[in-house]
Amino acid sequence: MNKPVLGIPQNTIEILQKYDFSFQKKFGQNFLIDTHVLDKIIRAADINKEDMVLEIGPGIGTMTQYLAEAAGKVVAVEIDKNLIPILSDTLRAYPNVRIINEDILKLDIRELALTEHGGKPVKVVANLPYYITTPIIMGLFEEHVPVESITVMVQKEVAERMQTGPGNKDYGALSLAVQYYASPYIVANVPPNCFMPRPRVGSAVIRLTCHEHPPVEVKDERLLFDVIRASFNQRRKTLANGLSNSDKIVFSKEVILEAIGKLGKGTGVRGEALTLEEFARLSNYLYDRKER
Ligand code: SAM
Repeated sequence: MNKPVLGIPQNTIEILQKYDFSFQKKFGQNFLIDTHVLDKIIRAADINKEDMVLEIGPGIGTMTQYLAEAAGKVVAVEIDKNLIPILSDTLRAYPNVRIINEDILKLDIRELALTEHGGKPVKVVANLPYYITTPIIMGLFEEHVPVESITVMVQKEVAERMQTGPGNKDYGALSLAVQYYASPYIVANVPPNCFMPRPRVGSAVIRLTCHEHPPVEVKDERLLFDVIRASFNQRRKTLANGLSNSDKIVFSKEVILEAIGKLGKGTGVRGEALTLEEFARLSNYLYDRKER
């Protein structure tokens, strides 16, 4: 058996020097250099030899080595072409790793899961590029990629936003999407000195265990999330104004006010006061009033 070696800072520095690698800020490159944090992520991801892991942004392959030890198969998607020769080097001892040089946001991940794992649920594990955390997570959810769990390093504030509820200033569309699709659990907070180069923000590892069935009944998921987004687009406005100002919500102000009235919270309520269950009721009511 091989031993992962890159989590040790000296080994990372050696590889970077060997390939004369320059960090690209635009790709959110902050590589992990802490073996304790790597162990924690792997433990939280709960991987076994039956699993296929999708890693987003392997960097120089630090976490990929750990994942390859634990999983049956690892598919790692990296956008930076300068990292591909490095990955071929650092992962040469692991035949169960496939590297794809692509932008994760342009890849059909559903199709990938189908061809690489027969459509069985995969586990996503990543130290995410922070500039695209939300589109990556929302993409996995909304495209209905078969995913069992998502264990990722994200910016600390984003981890908090993912697991907060109504009445909190961080509550928003991301919190509601996470609740609808998964159960969130913050595994650990991670300080900047665990990365090279150090990010300017604190980080946290969060595990999202995906639901087999959503916790609320929704007649039209797209409409639910259009309603949620419209409600938070204009935070300072009432829910009624947020919804009627959105070009995605095609109902008259009367119908919108009627639907909000049914919630029993007054028509001047703001979106940030509604629970997932209330958003579901609101969107189901609107769905029934849709002209077909
Ligand atoms: N996994 C490595 C580690 O922990 O040391 C690197 C993590 S670093 C925070 C984020 C990685 O994502 C970088 O390697 C970066 O090049 C890659 N990346 C950035 N944008 C990407 C995208 N759109 N698609 C795929 N990979 C991307």
